[in-house]
Amino acid sequence: LGRHKDDQRPTGFDYNGVHFGQDNLNVFAGLCAVDNPEHVEQMMRALQAEGQVCTRMGAYKPRTSPYAFQGHGKACLPYVFELAGKYGIKVIAMEVTHESHVEEIREALRQTGNPTGVMLQIGTRNTQNFELLKIVGRQQEFPVLLKRGFGITLEESLNAAEYLASEGNARVIFGLRGMKSNMGDPHRNFVDFAQVPVVRRLTRMPVCIDPSHSVGSRDRAPDGILDVMHVVAQGVIAGANMILVDFHPNPAKALVDGPQALLLEELPYFLEDVRIAREAY
Ligand code: PEP
Repeated sequence: LGRHKDDQRPTGFDYNGVHFGQDNLNVFAGLCAVDNPEHVEQMMRALQAEGQVCTRMGAYKPRTSPYAFQGHGKACLPYVFELAGKYGIKVIAMEVTHESHVEEIREALRQTGNPTGVMLQIGTRNTQNFELLKIVGRQQEFPVLLKRGFGITLEESLNAAEYLASEGNARVIFGLRGMKSNMGDPHRNFVDFAQVPVVRRLTRMPVCIDPSHSVGSRDRAPDGILDVMHVVAQGVIAGANMILVDFHPNPAKALVDGPQALLLEELPYFLEDVRIAREAY
């Protein structure tokens, strides 16, 4: 996946009619965790109204506490995929934490008649789960969003991406989602979007930013603008190619990460701000 001097190889790929590359920007607004079909449908309807064809939907949730909601898993896949088809969604980013999840997704897609595509997400807690990386790397069906490990070096995370590619799957997007720090930062994680151009320089991977897990709240700056929006603007101006961002029809009722989810009615303004930032890039 590395970029060499005078490298002319393509920096991206097409999947299910959507182009992913260092020359492009895709927004994946959606639910951090699928909770019920009504919320999934509200989310997808809002996306369609804005001409969006990608989303995020968490079915398998890697939680810090074993007592926290773990995601509906394969039980929610049929309605998530069917609703995606109904509202013209072409690619859903969905985290997998175990090899069995890949098979469950494949089977649910088959049973529902392949109404949508899936991008397998490997989360920050599994960046160095080498056996999972090898299994996800061996399958050719789905592209992969690999999140940077929150407590390891950038080089180590880039090597994790090489695990996917060396097993055969080079359709990889690299995700920045903030780093753990012990400095008492005001945000959930220390925002690392200044590294977008670094990853683009060192590799041929499109680079994703996750402002929601980086900032971790709907707090606003004194200018009234959401902290999430400020870091999105920074990331986009730095050249980000994908934005993974949490929205929810009713954040107070969200089962995971409600405090960082943006409101559905904010979606048009969010997309407009992204468009303006991209123009400034
Ligand atoms: C997520 O995107 O739902 C998630 C858990 O992200 P991360 O792996 O970055 O914590």
